[in-house]
Parts: sequence; structure tokens; C-alpha cells
Amino acid sequence: MKNRDMILRGIPISPGVSIGKLFVFNRYKLPSKINRSKLNVDKEMLKLQKAFDEAKNELEKIRKHIGDMLGSDYSAILDAQLLFLDDEELHKAIYKQIKENKMTAEMAFRSVLKQYLTDIEKQTTSNYLRERAMDFKDVGMRVVDKLGGILTSNIKDAKGKIVVANDLSPTELLNLSQESIAGIILASGGKTSHTVIVARALEIPMVIQVKEIIDKSQMDMNAIIDGKGGIVVLNPSEKTKRQFEKKKKEYLDELNDLKGISDLEAVTVDGAKLDLVANIEIPLEVNIALHNGARGIGLYRTEFLYLEKGFPPTIEEMYRDYSNVAKKMAPYSVIIRTIDLGADKLLNDIYYGKEDNPFLGWRGIRICLEKELIFKEQITAILKASLDGEVKIMLPMVSTVEEVIRAKEIIAEVKASMNYPKDRYVDLGIMIEVPSAALMSDKLAQMVDFFSIGSNDLTQYTLAVDRGNHKVTYLYDPLHPSVLKLIKMTIENAHKNDIWVGVCGEMAGDPYAIPILIGLGVDELSMSPISIPVAKKIIRNLSMSEAKIVANKSLNHQNGKEIREDINKEIEEKFVSLKGIFNLGRIEHDNI
Ligand code: PEP
Ligand code: MG
Repeated sequence: MKNRDMILRGIPISPGVSIGKLFVFNRYKLPSKINRSKLNVDKEMLKLQKAFDEAKNELEKIRKHIGDMLGSDYSAILDAQLLFLDDEELHKAIYKQIKENKMTAEMAFRSVLKQYLTDIEKQTTSNYLRERAMDFKDVGMRVVDKLGGILTSNIKDAKGKIVVANDLSPTELLNLSQESIAGIILASGGKTSHTVIVARALEIPMVIQVKEIIDKSQMDMNAIIDGKGGIVVLNPSEKTKRQFEKKKKEYLDELNDLKGISDLEAVTVDGAKLDLVANIEIPLEVNIALHNGARGIGLYRTEFLYLEKGFPPTIEEMYRDYSNVAKKMAPYSVIIRTIDLGADKLLNDIYYGKEDNPFLGWRGIRICLEKELIFKEQITAILKASLDGEVKIMLPMVSTVEEVIRAKEIIAEVKASMNYPKDRYVDLGIMIEVPSAALMSDKLAQMVDFFSIGSNDLTQYTLAVDRGNHKVTYLYDPLHPSVLKLIKMTIENAHKNDIWVGVCGEMAGDPYAIPILIGLGVDELSMSPISIPVAKKIIRNLSMSEAKIVANKSLNHQNGKEIREDINKEIEEKFVSLKGIFNLGRIEHDNI
């Protein structure tokens, strides 16, 4: 049968064209097919027992670690899971399925677990019991994993393919990315979610909100993803493939052209020098950052180690990563942000409980100041790494002066307890990503060494719009004058107090935002590594005096749309050579 293109559209997130096969990401693999007449009951029971033992060992270890970190109240939560594994009724029910219905251990376990969960759901309205059901689901997944049935064990099959999923967590994406996947197509997903940020950083073509993708796709189906155009083609014809091969080549040529400038400075035509640095999540990305001409790391998001394990990493594990990044990046500096867990980056309910409004809840520095031990361990690891390179500390989600005072006290305590050399000083900065912090930046600037504006959250909190909720994406705009006014105030207060200020939200790499931010006086821009060459080219074609005019005009507009129209006019009139660049690096906005 001749291939017929099926074209689907979504929101372009990370540029690049890939042509290949699909890998449909399911968190569960289908039960393995076996010849039932050959099924050996004893063997299946042994397999099951082994899986239970392994799951138990793992749980015991986690329980001990949680106990050490948070106390027995928390570790006790795992008791229910451990008891579940020893439940005689459960074992009997599984045995029955294997023996009477000739099921494999995996099939039998899944079928009994499913029944168990359905019964709980049906029989109870109690939240407590429903939460226990979550526990059973959790431990159930662990056992299925040991039986070889959960996706984490066949992620290897994604190698070189375009991954299709409804949504992915940042951790799932990072795990998949280790298989050099060719692209990601999500049915849902928000434009500034952490998953998106990671995909950009890893230079994986990505399109989100392709609503029909789950229904229309099949494992190993031929497909094309165009991460710049937001286009997905399923079952492409040879003609379509050729068209996209051409597009891919053009894109790579454009990119190569830009990479030529990675060794040059980011300096405007009238001599103003900017620091262009990178945002990273894992040490591996330092190579991408250096390759793209980053002169430091402006934001090292440190949540991955926690999310990957589901509980806090050890000081040694953290130190190993931080030190590795600091050494690779030397002599440039590395700003390590202390954990910003909470909101969409949850360890699990053990740490959080359920929150109705997690983005307004227990997140970032709020968690660190309450769970002091977790914070202290991370600070210890950062301070140790600071002896191996040029490291700075940055606190996320600061909303009050008191948080900074307390964090500084804790950092001083950690220094004293580890005999940190008296002649060494580690800069401390805070993220300005909550409107109250921007409004209090006059006071905050007297307490720290630098500010970094987290425009992703600052936009979310200023415009009261959930950054991951696509129903309100049309309202989410970092170029909204209300956000720009807060940025202006922050920069002025920083400079009055002789501290420098950077921007590390996605906006720092948006071609439309760059002239405005420079014009407002930002000293440093920290962005996804792949955005650096585009940003550098723009800066090298701009003058500070022009940027100031653009910035002042922007503050007087009514919305981001007007600002972009203005900038488009400027490009047409004065910077025709930048037109292609603007298209290449442009972050799409629904409301324009
Ligand atoms: C931000 O909010 O702009 C930011 C850089 O932090 P994150 O995206 O990790 O929340
Ligand atoms: Mg943030």
C-alpha cells in the first residue's frame, strides 16, 4: 500500500527535523506471551518470590534512608508497602492464578493487583484507604519492574527513535535521552514545563500538544518530526520524506553557520559586553554548553538526582556531580541552585502530602528551610565542590527577606561544621521569580551578591497563570509589560546596591526578549545551551543605545503582542540580516 501522509500539528518546542520510527512510550509493557501448556508453575512462583525479595530489599533501603533524613514518622509510611509484600492472601491469590489459569508470574501479579485496587476503589470513600491504594500501586510497580514488565526496563528500545507519549516527567525524559532518541511528540505538555526545558537543553526536536498523536500512532510507524514548524507527519510518502530531508539540511546549515560564532564575545556594536551562560540539569550538558560557547553556568538545576532516585541523594553523590561540573567549566563560574522541589517536581507523597495548589505551596526554599537536614546536606556538597572550581550558591523561590536571613544562617552553620577555609568566599545569590521578591529587591539586594531573574515563574506568578496549563497558555507571556516592569525594578535595585543581575528563565534565550533585557540593563543571560549562538548573533548586531530605546518603548505598551510587532518592524527596517535568526530562535507564543 502506498504511504499517505497524515499531518498533525502541535506547538513547536525544540527545533530540529528527524525522520524515523516511532517509539510509543507506555509506562507498562504488555504481559509477555508464552505457551501456556509449557508453563512451569514452580518456576513462575520462584520468579515471583525473587521479584518480591528484590522489591523488599529496595524498600528496606529506602525506608532506612528516609528514616535517617526525615525521621521515623516518614519512614513508617513505607511499612504498609512492606506489609503488603508479606500478605499471605496476596500470595495465595497469585498462586491460584498461576496454577489454575496458567498465567505467568507477571500476568498473575498484575491481575491480582488490579483486582485488589478495584476492590479498594469500589468499597471505600475513605481518603485514607484510597491513599493506601496508591501505596499498593507504587509497590506493585516496583514488583512489576523486578519481573521485567515496566517500561524502565525496555527504554533501550527507544534508541534512535521518535518518542510518543501523552506527557513525560523531566526524569523520564532524562532517562530516555540516554538512548539518543530522535525526537519527542507529546499529546499534552506545557510550554515552559521542566520537561520542555530539558528537551531544549538536550537539543532533542520536540513538539507538544499534538492532541491526536496517541490515537493515530503505533509502535515502529514511520514518522517525521519538525520541531521548529510544530509538524508531525505519520506514514510519510517518499516525496514528503525528501522535502523534510531538505529542511533538515537547511536547519543544520543554519546551525553550523551560527556555531562559527561560539568563540566570539557577546558584545554589542557599541562595545557593551554581556555574559552569556548556560542552564543545565545534568553534568552531561556541560559539554553541550561549552560547545555552544557558554562562558559559565548561570543556572544548574539540581533536582534531577533527587527525582531520579525518589529520595535525597547522598552528599557524596551530589558532590561528585557538582565537582565534575565545576572542574569542566573552570575557569568560568557555575551557579548551583539549591533544590526547587515541589510544584511539578515532586519526589513523592511521602515528602509532600497532597496540596491543592502546589505551585503556590511547599516549594523550593520553603521545603529547604523546613527540612533543614536535606538543605544542609546539599549545602555541604556545594561547599565541598566550591573548593574544586568557581562555584556560587543560588536560592530558588525566595518570597521574603526572612527566608534569606535564615538560609544565610544555615549556610554559616554548615561552613563552621565542616571547617570551611576562612579565606574562601562563596557568592550567594537569589532567584527573583516571585513578584514579592521583585518588589522587595531594594532590601534583598543588600543581603546577597547577585540576583538571577527566573522569568518562567515570575511570569506565572505575576499574571496568575499556571505555566504548565495549556488552557491558559494564551495568557502566559514573559514579555507582558507587567513582567517587564518588575524586571526593570529588580535591575535598578540591584545596580543601586552594586550587585549584578542575570535572567535565567526561558525568556533569556528568546530573540524578542534579548534587546529588551539588554536595554533594561541586565548583566548576564543564562539560557538553554542551544539558544546561545542565536543570542550571541543578536547581541553582536545590536547597539546598547538601540536596545535602550526598544526597552523603554516596550514598557509603555499594553501587551506582549504590541512589543513583538514593534520589534518586527525594527528588524524589517534596520536588521534585515537578523530576520532568519529571529525565526530560528523564536519561541512561539499562542497569543500572537
Ligand atoms: C524560572 O522560574 O524562570 C526558572 C529559571 O526556574 P525553573 O524554570 O527551574 O522554575
Ligand atoms: Mg523557577
